[in-house]
Amino acid sequence: MVTLGANLTIVIRTHTFEEDFARVGRWIEEYLGEPGRYPVLPSVVPGEIASALPDRAPEEGEPFERIMEDFERIIVPGITHWNHPRFFAYFATSAAPAAIAAEALAAALDVKVMLWRTSPSAAELESVVMRWLGRLMGVPESWTGIIYDTASVAGFTALAAARESLGLAIREDGMSGREVPALRVYATAQTHSHIEKAAIALGIGRRNVVAVPCDDAYRMDPAALERAIATDRRAGMQPLAIVATVGTTSTTSIDPVSQIAEIAQRERIWLHVDAAYAGVAAMLPEFSFLMDGVDRADSLVVNPHKWLFIPMDLSVLFLRDESTVRRAFSLVPEYLTTTDGNVRNYMDYGIQLGRRFRALKLWFVLRHLGAAQIRERLRDHIALAQRFAQWVDEDPQWETMAPHPLSLVCFRYHPRGVDDEERLERLNAALLDAVNATGEMFISHTKLGARYVLRLAIGNFRTTRSDVEAAWAILQREAERVTR
Ligand code: PLP
Repeated sequence: MVTLGANLTIVIRTHTFEEDFARVGRWIEEYLGEPGRYPVLPSVVPGEIASALPDRAPEEGEPFERIMEDFERIIVPGITHWNHPRFFAYFATSAAPAAIAAEALAAALDVKVMLWRTSPSAAELESVVMRWLGRLMGVPESWTGIIYDTASVAGFTALAAARESLGLAIREDGMSGREVPALRVYATAQTHSHIEKAAIALGIGRRNVVAVPCDDAYRMDPAALERAIATDRRAGMQPLAIVATVGTTSTTSIDPVSQIAEIAQRERIWLHVDAAYAGVAAMLPEFSFLMDGVDRADSLVVNPHKWLFIPMDLSVLFLRDESTVRRAFSLVPEYLTTTDGNVRNYMDYGIQLGRRFRALKLWFVLRHLGAAQIRERLRDHIALAQRFAQWVDEDPQWETMAPHPLSLVCFRYHPRGVDDEERLERLNAALLDAVNATGEMFISHTKLGARYVLRLAIGNFRTTRSDVEAAWAILQREAERVTR
């Protein structure tokens, strides 16, 4: 309670806040203590959760306890449990408890990290933890990092900076109503779809995202890249950027960044490296090669919210020269001008004005786990994936479908005598559905060329060898059932 004057008092603490927060704390502790007690995928039908909720917001406030009861009764049964140790779909993730606590503090402070003065600590902590992360991963010392919500937005921002650096005055004059050459972005069929979305949003157009051919390990072919650039230049097109991926979404293949960087430098084309998932693995000395060639790139994205135990959302864009992004985005209306001098105002680095205080959770996790424990967890995940791949390879009814250098395995069920691709697809799609319907585990799929493959990704720090063994047993059991 704060007394402001003779008869002016503001109650800034509801009398129940402490109890409410303790109630939430207990719930989280119990939940994270045993996230495997829930089915990993909920067995709800579309519309079921919405129909359990009222049509309108209440006119009068309700007791916190009643809202918590509904959270447990209505919301939790419709949750897909990313914290479940047998969540193996997409890229598996998990939130370290220290990060969850930090998120509560960030929500309490509720600062908007836009100008340095709108929260000096938040602005300066961001630059410090970016340096910490960069050093752990082996990012060049002179580069700086900026936090975005997602890799999609970071990638969009990098391409916007690349577009600005072409000197075509697109920022001021736009791309319509005048002659602008077709701008070309070079990627591969394995590149994450956010690059095409960025091309849509930036007026580049999906058709100008060139799918450079890959080798048989799903890595960009540098010679084909060179040919594509030469062909485009002859046709009067303007190369804008090359996107190389370190750890592609479908298979975690690793594009040859050093060779690609050589071409990018020679051709003076912006090189963006997407290491959204795999980048953190460069913290392991035996995977430091993941950063090979990055020193000659222009930008690099890595997602601590994927494999660094940080809850959504926190993606980092490392930049060789951050002024390129500032030139693309800085626009300061009168009401946001300051006299703070030589400071970094984060609103200058993207489309967003107010930004969440995301650096806090990264700071908490890097300190609370420590680099050694983080490395140990990453190593563990990679070893578990390698073990799973070995079981698959040793069984004549199953096969791995792509190299698996990190913590993801692409595989499929391939019983003797079934060699028709369409039948194999139907069989494996049925297997995916059957496995996921058990509620005991969750996997996802992809297509490699025309082949339908299953993906098992390990990235949750609660996943142990017994979870992976259980997954293998469930897959075998369900495979037998769907073939019967
Ligand atoms: N890049 C890669 C390689 C990814 O695997 C993903 C998502 O899985 C993304 C980018 C997009 O990440 P975000 O959800 O942070 O936009």
